[in-house]
Amino acid sequence: MALTQFQYDEIEREYSRRQLKSQRELSKRIDYISKTIPEIDRINREISSSSLEQARKILQSDTPEDSTEYHKNIQKLIKKKAALLKEHGFPADYLNIHHTCEKCADTGYLSNNEKCVCRKQAEIKLLYSQSNIENILEVENFDNFNFKYFDSETINKDLNKTPLQNIHEVYDICQDFIKKFDTDYANLYIYGNTGVGKTYLANCIAKALMDSSHSVIYLSAINLFNILADRDFNRAQSHEYQHIAHHLTDCDLLIIDDLGTELSNTFTVSALFQCLNERIISRKPVIISTNLSLHNLQTHYSERILSRIVDNYKMLKIIGNDIRINR
Ligand SMILES: [Zn+2]
Repeated sequence: MALTQFQYDEIEREYSRRQLKSQRELSKRIDYISKTIPEIDRINREISSSSLEQARKILQSDTPEDSTEYHKNIQKLIKKKAALLKEHGFPADYLNIHHTCEKCADTGYLSNNEKCVCRKQAEIKLLYSQSNIENILEVENFDNFNFKYFDSETINKDLNKTPLQNIHEVYDICQDFIKKFDTDYANLYIYGNTGVGKTYLANCIAKALMDSSHSVIYLSAINLFNILADRDFNRAQSHEYQHIAHHLTDCDLLIIDDLGTELSNTFTVSALFQCLNERIISRKPVIISTNLSLHNLQTHYSERILSRIVDNYKMLKIIGNDIRINR
């Protein structure tokens, strides 16, 4: 489960590929422009010759050189280039380098040496075998969310509303969760019967947050407990397992899908408590999707877990028929 040196190298190679690609694309655009607008070529030559001239002056002079005139002239030339590009219908940044990730310029690291979110997500993808999630999220996202699967007539006695009314409210809360993700700490407990769309909704949120450069780990409860067991039972042998589990505390959003489908025992009860508790302490959001009502959560897990969830999570009950049959 740990990332091998080969996988780390593969991440580095991917960054090199991206840098090379943007460099090549830039060269192509430069070539194209020098054919289409030769005047820009002339300006570029003027910029480099006047920079050389300025450097020569500085080196030869004993007194500090006044460079105000030089900077003014360069600014004038840069503005002229931008005006020419615009005149010919090109965007102002056409001759700048364009990176896949503008935050880190495809290096994987930010200026303070911290890992960029794109690198964290690349590690997560390898560590948690999430390569399939991208395909799922291509389909399961808010653009494809469809209210037509929810009954608009039958009033649910517990909630005193129709499944359609309910899902509209749940939908708005999820949108709000995304909108305020960086400012308002919140967790979601999405529960309801099988097939009402809990996982689908969690996937929609995952997609929206990944698109806005957040690191997201998506795990079924069974996989989560396998990882936690690896970490706890291999503690002495390897720090690699610690590294894997580190992402579980560190990622921007952790999604635990289908909680309650695993066999619960003393290990799962204490591991879940620890995992949820660590994230509450570091104020890192979690989304749980489950068939377990709060009452069943207590019997399946513990009073302690129940109270952590009640105190820190928004409860979103989804009602309705099995969508997978309607679809
Ligand atoms: Zn980046």
